[in-house]
Amino acid sequence: MYKPEIGKEEEEEILKVVRSGWISSASPVVREFEEKFSNYIGRRYGVATSNGTTALHLAVTALGIKEGDEVIVPDLTFVSPVNVVLYNKAKPVLVDIEEENWGLDPEKVRKVITDKTKAIIVVHLYGNPAKITELKEIAEEKGLYLIEDCAEAHGAEYEGKKVGSFGDISCFSFYANKIITTGEGGMCITDSEELYEKMQILRDHGMTKEKRYWHEVIGYNYRMTGLQAALGLAQLRKIDNFIRRKREIAKLYQDLLGDVVIVQRDPPKGKSIFWLFSVFTEKRDRLVEYLGLNGIETRKFFYPVHVMSPYTIFAYEKRFDISTKLSSLGLNLPSYPSLTIEEINYISTKIKEIIRN
Ligand SMILES: *Cc1c(COP(=O)(O)O)cnc(C)c1O
Repeated sequence: MYKPEIGKEEEEEILKVVRSGWISSASPVVREFEEKFSNYIGRRYGVATSNGTTALHLAVTALGIKEGDEVIVPDLTFVSPVNVVLYNKAKPVLVDIEEENWGLDPEKVRKVITDKTKAIIVVHLYGNPAKITELKEIAEEKGLYLIEDCAEAHGAEYEGKKVGSFGDISCFSFYANKIITTGEGGMCITDSEELYEKMQILRDHGMTKEKRYWHEVIGYNYRMTGLQAALGLAQLRKIDNFIRRKREIAKLYQDLLGDVVIVQRDPPKGKSIFWLFSVFTEKRDRLVEYLGLNGIETRKFFYPVHVMSPYTIFAYEKRFDISTKLSSLGLNLPSYPSLTIEEINYISTKIKEIIRN
């Protein structure tokens, strides 16, 4: 389904770190990766973490999200942003998405805000930017924190600005199937020096910077290793090529399949990076089976969060029309950067065979 692009450059960066002996999180390479990645998105500070979920947990913890607080999260997402709210005993308030950008629906968000609401976690789903300007306006108007989950959208843009440049804190994942990878890994980026320092302390067991082994808060070990950061540095040099290739693949699929199924396109005001190129059809389940028989691995869209047993009690809204619909019709096609034109043609031909019969 996904193949990371790991080459000579990655081998060399990792070898350098291995030979230097700086393999832990104390490696200067971690600092370098934090600086270069946060600059790439356009933020001042980066805090690298062990994975994307620990990045999100670090963000909600640094913002003081705790028991009694409510945090607005989308109903259609990978589950991490919902779980990190629960780790802190706060309440995730699941809200439906909208159909154009696949992100939180600003109008529906407005309706669920209460005195207890502290933050909104916006997810940019499958590479599409959510309506982040509109959501940021709501957050500012209501005095809420805004967290962006950009784990699926490194380099995507809304109104010409990269996603990750809007949130009080924005979180990324560098898991092996994300746009760039460190194997496992993540990062929080922010412009706030205060949040930057808080996150650094929480990431490192809550240890004060002034006095070793002196802990004033309960922290975690969410650190990234030098080995991971070395991989990240090599990947970061190629990120624009990966994005260009992802968009080329999307264009090929759009041209081949645009009148056969509903295909993922750039949403209004947005530039998608088409993380896992997606199509929608009533015949989705048959298509999955048929493509599987032809050696093509695909993936169905995420399930709506509110239907799964740990989360049903957080479905305050009774209607999740769009997340339910997209979840039942959506399918991710192979779209990793090294996918060839021949393979895209073959996959498209097989899709046409089923849809037209
Ligand atoms: C991948 C992903 C995460 C979590 O990242 P990990 O590195 O696997 O912990 C969080 N949110 C979204 C939307 C993701 O796709």
